Amino acid sequence: MAKAFDFGVERLAGTGVAAEAGTHEHSQDGCATGRTFFLETFGCQMNEHDSEKVAGVLLARGYRQVEKPEAASVVLYNTCSIREKAAQKVFSRLGEYRTTKKDGQIIGVLGCVAQQEGEEIFARAPWVSLVCGSASYRKLPQMIAQLEAGNTRVTGLDTDTDETFETEMTRRDNPWRAYLTIIEGCDKACSYCVVPFTRGPERSRASGSILREVKELADLGYTEVQLLGQTVNSYADPTPTSSGRQMRFSELLVAVAEVAGIRRVRFTTSHPRDFGKDIVEAIEAVPGICNHVHLPVQSGSTAVLRAMQRTYTRDEYLEKMEMIRAAKRTISVTTDIIVGFPGETEDDFRDTLRLMEEVRYDGAFTFKYSPRPNTPSLKMADAIPEEEKSRRLAILMEKQREIQAGLMRHAWGRGTNCWLAGNREEKTSGAGIRRITKL
Ligand code: SF4
Repeated sequence: MAKAFDFGVERLAGTGVAAEAGTHEHSQDGCATGRTFFLETFGCQMNEHDSEKVAGVLLARGYRQVEKPEAASVVLYNTCSIREKAAQKVFSRLGEYRTTKKDGQIIGVLGCVAQQEGEEIFARAPWVSLVCGSASYRKLPQMIAQLEAGNTRVTGLDTDTDETFETEMTRRDNPWRAYLTIIEGCDKACSYCVVPFTRGPERSRASGSILREVKELADLGYTEVQLLGQTVNSYADPTPTSSGRQMRFSELLVAVAEVAGIRRVRFTTSHPRDFGKDIVEAIEAVPGICNHVHLPVQSGSTAVLRAMQRTYTRDEYLEKMEMIRAAKRTISVTTDIIVGFPGETEDDFRDTLRLMEEVRYDGAFTFKYSPRPNTPSLKMADAIPEEEKSRRLAILMEKQREIQAGLMRHAWGRGTNCWLAGNREEKTSGAGIRRITKL
């Protein structure tokens, strides 16, 4: 949703510089010409952070952010296609501008729906001037320059890029926690997912550049860094550090946590295939790395996992969980689960419920399967009726509620607060015994 944005120049941080809006060469002429932008964001943390960078690009060009679209010379929608009928919703929102659009006002669509619908957006909403998918954000400054120069339509729809989106300036929303994308795109090709299509192939940001930005963030007073990626733990350092080595993801976690002033490091989302013991060891060894792993399982049935092209079996996932549960610090685990994937039988669904009982997740994001454009599962037979999907989802949610209630009772019984309140768990003894202490 639309973000609040009370910020000062001291909260602006860029790559390679702690940027100050007023000192940029474009700033003064931008302010003088009264260029303003309104930016609305839907979707995940990666989208939120992309919007922070898009805002940085515009601020660096002298634009000022405003709270209402009618007050803006540029209106941008950063869209998400995770929800069903996402494109329809975007077109309906764009329709609201058909009559209210002022002369010279630029309307742009960013993100997954932009990538998915492409130039079709111009055909259906001719008042739109800019369409840019997230894999092409690197080109945004040039695209905006083209619009400023009088071009009426610009697009950025390439996905075959090996570049990541780094900006001279990022306008962050949170005063103490900074998002930082370390890997963009995805190579995993899960059969239900649009991300490989909308965000392109995996591209990792150089560790040296990441650590430089973390130091700048610490200097600006940020104490928490959340490393982001669709598959964050598939990070592959593209360039050697000064010591001549490419960092593994676990080494990067440690290096970020060791930056003076950074007290907490979080990371999301991890892919089970690339989740190794070295990550658990990093969490065990470094208290600044938060003891929480979001490890989407999606299904407890190997047959469904195969159909989903998830690249691991139920047993392989449970082995990863054993490794996490055996850690010296208790590690909270959350997950994502989809019910009603094409061909999911009642037995497959029961396997998912059994897996939940076995793992006892601290939290679960649960979804009914719904087909997405440009995904292989769109053509799969054996669709599950909507009512059946809803029934399975309700059972799954109830199961998770029971599990969480049990975990909470256990925690409260020990006179402690729950991790959901932002506290940290520490293992005292034995599997499943948790002591929760405030940070
Ligand atoms: S790992 Fe699968 S679900 Fe996650 S972004 Fe990649 S393709 Fe999508």
